[in-house]
Amino acid sequence: MNTVPARFSEFVFSAQPGFDEPTMREAFSHAVPLKSIVIYCYDPRVREIPGAVAQFLGDQVYPGEVVFNETGNRVGSTTTMGTVSVAAGRAVDALRSVTVGEFLFGIETVVVVHHSNCGATSYSTDGMITAFRHEHGADLSRVYDRGSISITDYEASLKYDTDLLRASPGVPRHAEILGLFYNTDTGELTEVIRNKGE
Ligand SMILES: [Zn+2]
Repeated sequence: MNTVPARFSEFVFSAQPGFDEPTMREAFSHAVPLKSIVIYCYDPRVREIPGAVAQFLGDQVYPGEVVFNETGNRVGSTTTMGTVSVAAGRAVDALRSVTVGEFLFGIETVVVVHHSNCGATSYSTDGMITAFRHEHGADLSRVYDRGSISITDYEASLKYDTDLLRASPGVPRHAEILGLFYNTDTGELTEVIRNKGE
């Protein structure tokens, strides 16, 4: 048997002597008091969105502070809000992150934010598919869910994404799901959809 440890294995929780998965999960649940996840666009113009959402929700700590142990290692954070930054803030790209957040920390609220003048409103779904065929010889027509590729109507895109989250088995049924519109220029958030959990 090869007893040489894998590179970087000292940084792998499950590779440590005495590792016990349930104990580790319990410890993780106390390391960060996470209770919400915000999904928003990676557009650099809207980096303020998580802070604006924290203010909007009113009961969040964001960005919070890193918690150190006695030897100076980073072992947690005081934040209550996790962030997922993806093109156009579409929920399809964030589903797995919501599931991991629920598993490790427990999630009460998932917030989807779409913003004004988003790049995803500058093209059509067919336009992107056609361009990739010409420019890369690649067929995207069945690679991505068509409803998540572009935005033509913000109420429709927020409805689509909050419905997608609600229907996912990886999103807890008790979680409240919000769909918010963010004005890129004024920073104003408008609630469009509130889907209460069970
Ligand atoms: Zn955008």
